[in-house]
Amino acid sequence: MKQIKNQFILMDNAEFAKWLESQTIKRSIKRIQNHHTWKPRYSGFKDDNHFSLLEGMKRSHLKRDFSDIAQNITTFPDGTIAVCRPLTKIPAGIKGANTGGICIEHVGNFDIGGDEMTTMHKDIIVYLNALLCAKFNLSPDANSIVYHHWWTAAGKRTNGINVAKSCPGTNFFGGNKVEDAEKNFIPKIITQLKKIDASFKEEPVVEKLPISYSKNGVVPYGKELQEYLNQFPGISLKVDGWPGKNSSDALKKVMGHYLVGDPRIN
Ligand SMILES: [Zn+2]
Repeated sequence: MKQIKNQFILMDNAEFAKWLESQTIKRSIKRIQNHHTWKPRYSGFKDDNHFSLLEGMKRSHLKRDFSDIAQNITTFPDGTIAVCRPLTKIPAGIKGANTGGICIEHVGNFDIGGDEMTTMHKDIIVYLNALLCAKFNLSPDANSIVYHHWWTAAGKRTNGINVAKSCPGTNFFGGNKVEDAEKNFIPKIITQLKKIDASFKEEPVVEKLPISYSKNGVVPYGKELQEYLNQFPGISLKVDGWPGKNSSDALKKVMGHYLVGDPRIN
């Protein structure tokens, strides 16, 4: 089934898994972007025109002065996957979220009233996200699995406030909000990831603060940071004023990132 035309490699799920395993990607990958193409829609997909759709998207992206087709990967209604812009290259999917990102475009219009996603398409989208999480050691959550709709055109993450795009669609796996992703999409990816990687363990869910942990612009450190983190369920740090690995892990749970200076940041 594997077919190659120019830069595009069209594969089924098993072929893609094998292909991905053979790839070395040196840039650090932190998030998987999910988009719908909106156009082409399902009606433009004719079972055997994958490559002409890809060439068409590339032409339109080049016209918009992109250096290449914007997305790293495209998925199709028949459950196939095409590698597009090389994974080694930063995509042009979401301003403010491209560095460290892999951009996937799902062919179709998944706004309410648009295309009804096929089961094969649903399965490949979940499988692909899980496979990429396994490859790049990502724990699926709303920081690692992201939607275009959560960023403004200016490149600020607002989780859907003041944004122009509904992408990947108001009906994408039950909706395009963060809560929809957390309720409907991410759990499916976690289930799939557990099948792919038996050693994968979910991180315990802790309440997340929607605000920065800086107080009046001052970032708590030492004892103050440890006391702050101890307010969250499941965290009980020794308050010794010397934040180390445990404090850094706790910060990652609460805020989604490690302490500055933690070697795992790189
Ligand atoms: Zn998009």
